Amino acid sequence: MNSEPRRIQVLLPLPLSGPFDYLIEGDLILEEGDFVKVPLGGRTLQGVVWNMSPETNDLPVEKLKAVVDKLDLPPLPPSLMAFIDWVASYTLSPLGAVLKMAVSVPRAFDQAKKKTFYRLSASLPEKLTDARRSVANLDVPAGLPMALKTWAELASVGEGVLRGMVKAGQMIPVAVMGDAPYPEPDPYFKGPRLSEEQQRAASHMRELVAKHSYQAVLLEGITGSGKTEVYFEAIAEALKVKGGQILVLVPEIALTAQWLERFQKRFGAEPVIWHSELTPAQRRRAWWAVGQPDNNNQPDNNNQPDNNNQQGNNNQQGNEKRARVVVGARSALFLPFQDLKLIVVDEEHSATFKQDDGVMYHGRDMAVVRAMQADCPVILASATPSLETILNAEAGKYDWLYLGQRHGSAVLPNMTAIDMRVQKMKSGTWLSDPLRAELAQNLAREEQSLLYLNRRGYAPLTLCRTCGHRMECPHCSAWLVEHRKGEKLICHHCGFSCAKPKACPECDSKDSMVACGPGVERVAEEVQALFPAARIAVMASDEISSPAQMRQMITSIERHEVDFIIGTQIVTKGYHFPMLTLVGVIDADLGLSGGDPRAAERTWQQLEQVAGRAGRAERPGQVIFQSYAPEHPVIAALISGDGQAFLEQEAHDREQHMLPPFGKLAGIIVSGADFNAVAKTARRIAALGPKDNAITILGPVPAPMAYLRGKNRFRLLVKAEKKVKLQKIMGQWLSSCPLERGVSLQVDIDPYSFF
Ligand code: ADP
Ligand code: ZN
Ligand code: ZN
Repeated sequence: MNSEPRRIQVLLPLPLSGPFDYLIEGDLILEEGDFVKVPLGGRTLQGVVWNMSPETNDLPVEKLKAVVDKLDLPPLPPSLMAFIDWVASYTLSPLGAVLKMAVSVPRAFDQAKKKTFYRLSASLPEKLTDARRSVANLDVPAGLPMALKTWAELASVGEGVLRGMVKAGQMIPVAVMGDAPYPEPDPYFKGPRLSEEQQRAASHMRELVAKHSYQAVLLEGITGSGKTEVYFEAIAEALKVKGGQILVLVPEIALTAQWLERFQKRFGAEPVIWHSELTPAQRRRAWWAVGQPDNNNQPDNNNQPDNNNQQGNNNQQGNEKRARVVVGARSALFLPFQDLKLIVVDEEHSATFKQDDGVMYHGRDMAVVRAMQADCPVILASATPSLETILNAEAGKYDWLYLGQRHGSAVLPNMTAIDMRVQKMKSGTWLSDPLRAELAQNLAREEQSLLYLNRRGYAPLTLCRTCGHRMECPHCSAWLVEHRKGEKLICHHCGFSCAKPKACPECDSKDSMVACGPGVERVAEEVQALFPAARIAVMASDEISSPAQMRQMITSIERHEVDFIIGTQIVTKGYHFPMLTLVGVIDADLGLSGGDPRAAERTWQQLEQVAGRAGRAERPGQVIFQSYAPEHPVIAALISGDGQAFLEQEAHDREQHMLPPFGKLAGIIVSGADFNAVAKTARRIAALGPKDNAITILGPVPAPMAYLRGKNRFRLLVKAEKKVKLQKIMGQWLSSCPLERGVSLQVDIDPYSFF
């Protein structure tokens, strides 16, 4: 055939900027998206054919190496390749680093090992030895293939017996994939009866799904209004499409126990789960199932007649079924979906969708892009939508659906603020008298109370009473947080930990280290002292290390085995506890200070969400905010229930300051071990910045976390008018700035954190 070697480009999952040229030699047939092995620097690496007809000819053909081999894998779908391209250019990240997110499944390249299982022959001779008879008489479904060992164990015979049966043709080998298929959710399984308002929203979304084209929808609904039930209807519609796939992004996948249960109830099967804590085997299984190119969703036929093909008749059973519904963290956007029909982003306002290291992308925004490229609808659901999304809805770019009533007889809770400036607080206590009185009453009524404080551990600061020395992390500019478990001090930024010192490391005074300020553990201690007989649960990420543990805790709250829940922001995530009627916010002002332009919006969202946990069933709820500034617009908006006015004011302020979404914003973080080299590089970047009236460069200044994981850090902030092609300009600018040795640079388009 064609003997002329052909130049192609292969992208490797490495943090390099782009694909490399290679040659196809011989009769190797390749297409874009194919997985291949290529040589690089003496090694053989696996990559993806990115471009079959590159235009560049920088390197002469003689210098190019040939593709070694094609891997026996389904190619990366074109929609995913386009998405990877898009994310890389939007976030100014190396293309290879983004590809890595799509294929960084340990052993993704190795399909689950094919195994040979055995099933009983349908035609066994009349006469069998006793041992063989006991195998034949086992009560297993006809045609079920199992490992020889399993047969032997079930029948309590030696494996030799089974091998004899294989030889005699009484056991038939069957090649199976190592991974079991996922059960398929059933759209007709069991739907709820929707209220009129829910019905309206659901049918709008069903229609969009049926249209098979891109449209973003904001599904706004007060807490407890049934948003989940409603978007389940859209999922059901998409499930009716043969082979159609649905992706649901949730802010914290480890915390979705209740959600999974509801999904199971609605669709009769669990969805595929995707997050960073899966085991390698779980990841591989999910990745493969999502990427199944053949839409082979018929039930397996196990009762096929025998045939004479003894050694595995290439009839792969098992994992031939495409996974239909994936619920996952933002990284699930990079799964090789073959036929996306719907994306849902639940709690779309959540800042956890933003990835803050490596490729810094926003999961919600990229979900919209993914949906555009897949040409399917995307639903953004929240009780407290982000300003960005609200403005898109107001501008008519997104459809806007609203649910204004709580399901059943539930009503929104009553909210009040306690002015902490006039409360007399005993030192080392955090619950004011009025809040204590409400807690006591609620306990007497045998209802549950939640105390919210977004601070893990026991105390955020430990200092020496004698000399004032503060315990700080040796690797970061941050205080060490005391945790009672193990009497430890822990850095929440880098994970450094040490024992709480008995004597001051600075002045050597004995027993002079004191805890300052409250964390959830300390509040729990106060509650326990007030109500010695009460049952208390602390809900914080360090108390709960696995989804199973989370499930256990939720079940025990649901069973009313807990009177008081003391929790960090993980309790704000959509939980539904019917007996929970009182929410106390220990420090409503926490999070309002700092240089984050979204601080007020974020605090409002968090408090509105946590308040939404109260009174979700028949019993009415009450929310109490302890605040030193109850007149602050955020607190005032919560109490008055006028979130609308607050958001309008926020929008106005941001427009005045040209902050997103009215202008563009990008952070540049310069870091390295050597302070002078970092400072010098940061100044150089600023000096070489674009001279353009539509662009303002702020900084460089030492970052608020000036020292993190042993590195010095400087920040610059780039503000630009909306019309500016920021990525293009920044790409050129930054690639022309030489970095000092050991200094690295990170770009954060649309930053959400400013530490
Ligand atoms: P949201 O996501 O808006 O906070 P949910 O979907 O969690 O609200 O609904 C709140 C509670 O009300 C859940 O327990 C849910 O099962 C229930 N619920 C909502 N709508 C219905 C309905 N139409 N039929 C039965 N239960 C419903
Ligand atoms: Zn001291
Ligand atoms: Zn640290």
